[in-house]
Amino acid sequence: MPASEIVLKPASWWRDHGVTLRYGAAATAVDIAARTVTLADGKVLGFAKLVFATGSRAIRLPVAGADLRGVWTFRDIADVASISRAACRGARVVVVGGGLLGIEAAYGLAKAGAKVTLVHLMDRLMERQLDARAAAMLKRALEAKGIDVLLEVATTRFIGDGRVEAVEFNDGRRLAADMAVVAIGIKPNAELAAAAGLSVNRGIVVDDRLSSSAADVFAIGECAEHRGVCYGLVEPANEQAQVLAERLAGRNLSYGGSVNATNLKVSGVHVFSAGDFLGAAGTESIVLADPGLGSYRKLVVANGCLVGAVLYGDTTDALWYLELIRTGAAIEPFRADLIFGRALIERQAA
Ligand SMILES: Cc1cc2nc3c(=O)[nH]c(=O)nc-3n(C[C@H](O)[C@H](O)[C@H](O)COP(=O)(O)OP(=O)(O)OC[C@H]3O[C@@H](n4cnc5c(N)ncnc54)[C@H](O)[C@@H]3O)c2cc1C
Repeated sequence: MPASEIVLKPASWWRDHGVTLRYGAAATAVDIAARTVTLADGKVLGFAKLVFATGSRAIRLPVAGADLRGVWTFRDIADVASISRAACRGARVVVVGGGLLGIEAAYGLAKAGAKVTLVHLMDRLMERQLDARAAAMLKRALEAKGIDVLLEVATTRFIGDGRVEAVEFNDGRRLAADMAVVAIGIKPNAELAAAAGLSVNRGIVVDDRLSSSAADVFAIGECAEHRGVCYGLVEPANEQAQVLAERLAGRNLSYGGSVNATNLKVSGVHVFSAGDFLGAAGTESIVLADPGLGSYRKLVVANGCLVGAVLYGDTTDALWYLELIRTGAAIEPFRADLIFGRALIERQAA
């Protein structure tokens, strides 16, 4: 996909809507008392209200050799350009991190013809979105696409003379590598806010009004921490932006948190997860599995409502389940058929 197709809005859209955009202008200091933001080129902008939406950055592995050439993180368009330039057919690539991003990177690289090994610290892939059964199905599907998957392996060192040549693990194993991609998580860009004196834990602490610890200063998206949660997805950031925009326009909305929901973008592998997918104490799980068809559904129910879901294989009902989770609708009237999906329930109701 060309970069032009992933731009949210062209420069003309912002212009037409009265938004002044300054490209390539990093904010380097914020003075809350003086109500100013200083930019890298020395310009100073005044503000009446200020919104931090500085996102986050990829965490680098704190091991020897992490700064060798050929060891990339996966965050922005420059990373993508570097990775795709380096990923020639037959290149030996180690991807560190078996979360959503690592898996998507591994798949993209394998599709480009690289020989990919995906290494993950935990005992299953995507442990923050999938239960053990769905994760095992995903592992088999990735292996069928030619990706080697190593679980419960910690990366201890990148080896090379200026450029990465091998990756070493805690079990003593060493893999020859022409390139490594590290996708082990993100860190909110909250330093600017902290230096300005705002309350920062992992992210910039905000309340249900998305207000920081200072009056008229707000934070949304990956840099914000709401009720102890830093979200790492577009949808929660959009929900926060929507609430804050309404508030700044004078309406009295509040933000109560978002339901985490994810889809994996690997062609032919349909995976969806939302809410409490593991099932906390006091919940009940409804499971439908057909290993022969490579299909698995787990719905987690609590107090007559759907609170979580994992779908593997057939994800056609994903949005419907998500809606039930988000709205907290009563499922008792159709609980017996819930696992079979919306079409059956609607047919029976007709
Ligand atoms: C490869 C990849 C794939 C992803 N795929 C998905 C997906 O499929 N679905 C999904 O929901 N999420 C996905 N995500 C996550 C999603 O991109 C983020 O959750 C989302 O972009 C967060 O939005 P944000 O505005 O908070 O932060 P960002 O999108 O990171 O935007 C923050 C911006 O602020 C700028 N900035 C930072 N500091 C300063 C400063 N001091 N001065 C000026 N500007 C500054 C940054 O350069 C950046 O442009 C993906 C992320 C990656 C890296």
